Amino acid sequence: MIFERAGLIDEARRSGTLAGLPHGHFIGGRSVPSASGEEMESFDPGRGVAFARVAAGKAEDVGRAVAAARAALSGPWSRLTPAARGEILMRASHLLRERAARFAVVETLDSGKLLAEAEGDVAGVVRCFAYYAGAVDKLHGDSVPLGPDYVGVTIEEPVGVVAQIVPWNYPLSTAARGIAPALAAGCTLVVKPAEQTPFTTLMLAELLHEAGLPEGVLNVVAGTGAEAGAALVAHPGIDHITFTGSVPTGQHVMRAAAEHVTRLQLELGGKSPVAVMADCDIESAVEGVIGAIYENAGQICSAGSRLILETTIAEDVLGRLVARVEAMTLGHGLSGAAIGPINSPQQLARVAAHVGRARDAGNRILTGGAIAPPEACGGGWFYRPTIILARGPDDPLVQEEIFGPVLTVQVVADLEEAIAVANATSYALVAGIYTRDHAKAWRFARAVDAGQVYINEFFAGGVAMPFGGNRNSGFGRAKGMAGLRSYCKLKSVIARL
Ligand code: NAD
Repeated sequence: MIFERAGLIDEARRSGTLAGLPHGHFIGGRSVPSASGEEMESFDPGRGVAFARVAAGKAEDVGRAVAAARAALSGPWSRLTPAARGEILMRASHLLRERAARFAVVETLDSGKLLAEAEGDVAGVVRCFAYYAGAVDKLHGDSVPLGPDYVGVTIEEPVGVVAQIVPWNYPLSTAARGIAPALAAGCTLVVKPAEQTPFTTLMLAELLHEAGLPEGVLNVVAGTGAEAGAALVAHPGIDHITFTGSVPTGQHVMRAAAEHVTRLQLELGGKSPVAVMADCDIESAVEGVIGAIYENAGQICSAGSRLILETTIAEDVLGRLVARVEAMTLGHGLSGAAIGPINSPQQLARVAAHVGRARDAGNRILTGGAIAPPEACGGGWFYRPTIILARGPDDPLVQEEIFGPVLTVQVVADLEEAIAVANATSYALVAGIYTRDHAKAWRFARAVDAGQVYINEFFAGGVAMPFGGNRNSGFGRAKGMAGLRSYCKLKSVIARL
């Protein structure tokens, strides 16, 4: 496997691509071209050039995929026992582990992320399929005491056909955390990956069919949001939508779902706080803050993009952070650099515009604050890791999601102010705190509005812990048993004896 990994990296470096990438949509158990015959290019963000082509889906392709998923809902899939569904998911987990290197290299080429991060994502997806393989036959209902003359039970049934819309920052991980529990629950799916990153989702569909998934159970339509995405969420044949992406698109999807009263789960953006208290282990907090904002070049919905720092340690912590950041190298995801590229020129321009406005407004930039010259880092779309001081609670740097390697710093007097500042944005996705005092940590955990709270390790957890947001960060939960129940509808059955 080590040789296979080295060979794939070598091929990708030498040729700029990999042979054998999927080309068509995956509908009804096979790869098919678009009805229109149209294709689109996918770009390697580390070099800023197109490296492969893929089908560009439209409403007609979406219609075919939804029809395949609806037909599959009452086909052989519906007659499998939960344990048999679990076996397919477990086989998929094993197959993915065997092919982890290929999935990771493709994810790096398509999304730009560092190979080590892509490998971490694939390992997480291996675990995700194993987790839901084991959960399938533990989806118990309740028996409800109604007295001697009745029997009351609740039954968890699959919601039906699921539409999943996936963003470009964690293509495989995000697709898997919808696909695995939806299949475990007995649903069928139509998945639309982001137009920037279609390949690993298409590869996952092929792999699942190799693992025994009946045809039509999982369909993938590649295409843009405006064409394939909008057609999918507006389709009357969809029973449940799982959307992960930006707030404006989420609002659009919510309006489309209202038309057919379609069930909906939204995972949107964030502006997540990391509170660093004076009594913490400073070295581990500094490493935690660096990972929280610079992993995947900050293109993470749950990035710790706001550092909330207690005054007495502010100078020390900021000095250490700047030194760490200035030692980071930028480069292609396959080059061994510390930070990879931004996924697209549009996203790079957005990041630069946020920081440019802050500079014009007088924010102090401690380090970074500029696009890196492409020729210095392999030709791609890179932004220098940046640390900026906020001007106050209403500063756009505090309120707006940047989705890039930009850390905003807010200095506070104590824990109470840290809690108030943490809660003072429209987002509520995750929050972190570094302190040695567990009473403080728990006070923060209870008082902060967030779907997940991390104490002394940002991003801790894994597939077993439910994940999702509140307020503008969305609603509904992925992962864990809560993620599985998202794809179930509860039926109460009452019998008169
Ligand atoms: P986006 O909203 O532009 O696109 C997300 C997906 O929606 C893509 O697949 C896109 O093609 C599709 N889409 C676009 N317009 C559509 C429409 N009209 N109808 C249906 N689908 C449509 O977001 P993005 O820029 O790709 O991703 C970045 C955003 O996603 C950030 O705001 C980030 O915080 C958020 N995000 C959230 C999570 C989470 O778990 N909460 C995870 C990753 C990303």
